[in-house]
Amino acid sequence: MEEVSDEDPYDNALAQLASVAEIVQVEPEYLEILKHPRREIVVYLSLKRLSGETVTYMGYRVQHNNARGPYKGGLRYHPDARLNEVRALAMWMTWKTAVIDIPYGGAKGGITMNPSDLVTDDLERLTRKYVDAIERNIGPEIDIMAPDVNTNPQTMAWIMNEYSKLTTHQVPAVVTGKPLELGGSEGRIAATGRGVSICARQAVQTFLHKDIKDVTVAVQGFGNVGSHTVSTLMEMGAKVVAVSDVTGGALARGGRGFEIPFDAISEIAQRDGSVSRIPGVEQISNEELLELEVDVLIPAALENQITEKNAGSVRAKLVVEAANGPTTPHADKILTRNGITIVPDILANSGGVLVSYFEWVQNLNRDHWTEEAINARLEFKMTKAFNDVLRYSVTSDLDMRKAALAIAVQKVASAMRLGGWH
Ligand code: GLU
Repeated sequence: MEEVSDEDPYDNALAQLASVAEIVQVEPEYLEILKHPRREIVVYLSLKRLSGETVTYMGYRVQHNNARGPYKGGLRYHPDARLNEVRALAMWMTWKTAVIDIPYGGAKGGITMNPSDLVTDDLERLTRKYVDAIERNIGPEIDIMAPDVNTNPQTMAWIMNEYSKLTTHQVPAVVTGKPLELGGSEGRIAATGRGVSICARQAVQTFLHKDIKDVTVAVQGFGNVGSHTVSTLMEMGAKVVAVSDVTGGALARGGRGFEIPFDAISEIAQRDGSVSRIPGVEQISNEELLELEVDVLIPAALENQITEKNAGSVRAKLVVEAANGPTTPHADKILTRNGITIVPDILANSGGVLVSYFEWVQNLNRDHWTEEAINARLEFKMTKAFNDVLRYSVTSDLDMRKAALAIAVQKVASAMRLGGWH
């Protein structure tokens, strides 16, 4: 029998698109266009490292679609960053900006490397080389980058500075997720996690008929998204019983959640480099975390965490996808068959790019909004997007992923049709 692999993110993104092709009212020519990115940029970045050796790194920027506005999406630094991964992530950005209803298209970038192998000075020069290589294809009205896996406000500051040098004037709107001092937005760092928690709260009410305070939650991943998801869920009173990072996980038995406050967990994670060191907990692996008997499971790490191999062992009632592409299409079918509801990534984690949009608007207007204003708008837009997807899923008898995707594909196709893209 032919080996079934569901590990290629781009194949998975295409399978998802194919799964709504029959449902959506979209002409075949637009679906054909949407299967492919509009543009892919591949660059070879040769860097003379401080150690003296010269190493060549591969960099990518994939621009999937810009019918609804400029290309938008993060930049990730990871040893597994490959063209097909970046392609999938770019397509998912197109759907995400449509679902959360902001005037952007979708793009993604990556450099294949392990950032912990590079000293800060090398990382800065590599980032600047990447900007030099793609300068003509980015800009505040063309393609706006943001943080993703292993990139952060400092990375965005270097990009903004390099781009501004090349264009001979300050251009804060070329990137979002910047430090506050350089035109970053209040609330941006926590935005993705906060949005995930808002979606989880709505999903718990809708599908489990419970209050968020009365459910147990396990969160896989303690990077920017995972840690802020944990922090906002704890603020809401949810019982976070398990967390993990690349080194492993921690489980608080008894179903009451962690006894120590979020700040203490975060301090331990920073000090010891691992959340599994939280005192009084049971150490578990990332794989075990995914199979815990909890109400809500939140994968907040990388793609392909719930696959056909382990989907049958997932015992959560709800899966809220904080990472991009954590569930493969095969796993999706297994979870659905087992009565598990999935709140898809393109809805659940769209709070990040939403507040990126707020940052861009503030930059273009030379304005600065308060954190309260940002969080209130985030709450409003996330709740509305959740309700829109829910309504569509009920009226069209679709699961939440297909409903979100169908809404997105129809919006993008409509913009293409009006613009005369065929
Ligand atoms: N990297 C984030 C994502 O996957 C944020 C993108 C952005 O803000 O442009 O949604």
